[in-house]
Amino acid sequence: MSATAAPAAVKPMISIDSISKWYGPVQVLKDCTTQVTKGEVVVVCGPSGSGKSTLIKTVNALEPIQKGSITVDGIGVQAKGTNLPKLRSRVGMVFQHFELFPHLSITDNLTLGQRKVLGRSNEDARTRGLKLLDRVGLSAHAHKYPGQLSGGQQQRVAIARALSMDPIVMLFDEPTSALDPEMVGEVLDVMVNLAREGMTMMVVTHEMGFARKVANRVVFMDRGEIVEDATKDDFFDKPRSDRAQTFLSKIL
Ligand code: ADP
Ligand code: MG
Repeated sequence: MSATAAPAAVKPMISIDSISKWYGPVQVLKDCTTQVTKGEVVVVCGPSGSGKSTLIKTVNALEPIQKGSITVDGIGVQAKGTNLPKLRSRVGMVFQHFELFPHLSITDNLTLGQRKVLGRSNEDARTRGLKLLDRVGLSAHAHKYPGQLSGGQQQRVAIARALSMDPIVMLFDEPTSALDPEMVGEVLDVMVNLAREGMTMMVVTHEMGFARKVANRVVFMDRGEIVEDATKDDFFDKPRSDRAQTFLSKIL
């Protein structure tokens, strides 16, 4: 098949090509390659320190790389001339710690980026923000401050805030691992809905129930390498590497 004949549907939304990264003398990403197509949900898992956070942070250039290349929707993340603030505004990111602005109300948390980065009017930003707050089940909390919400609620606001920028992809880095167990489900439910609505997602998580429910593929990392990149069923039912088998036997 010639390159020009490839159907648009398989064009990757995120393309990570042979990337390597070092911290000083220590190589933390080793020739990593993977793609995420539009609407796909890819779960990234692996032992602590294997490079999962570093990998997903490279996607919006929060971490520079020394080798290889990354594109998001065809735009070179490291390419000279790429408008990084603009690119980052289209790549939603949700971290382990919610990182809401503590001194701003929930509504202001949801509208600030829309106003400052996207230039939306107060009214427009507010309408959209409140709609998203409703979508994550928190309409009643618009006037509160982050400190008045539970961890699970704050993380749902963080997801709504990322969505308020109309992202083309969403990156999650262990979004539930800092939460009390009883709050994990409410955050995963929001993420499951998002996945089912067709959002392109790259999710670092050890929540294998989530992976089984909505992931299309699982990327397994160990010591800076992508050791497996498999469909969900292949990964869970017949992991190829000893390292993945060992990992799964510990967490399942
Ligand atoms: P994971 O998210 O899988 O736990 P990380 O991507 O956070 O792994 O880290 C990968 C490796 O890079 C680890 O060995 C970690 O110690 C190292 N590392 C992460 N951040 C830094 C940093 N800022 N400086 C030096 N080493 C780092
Ligand atoms: Mg990490």
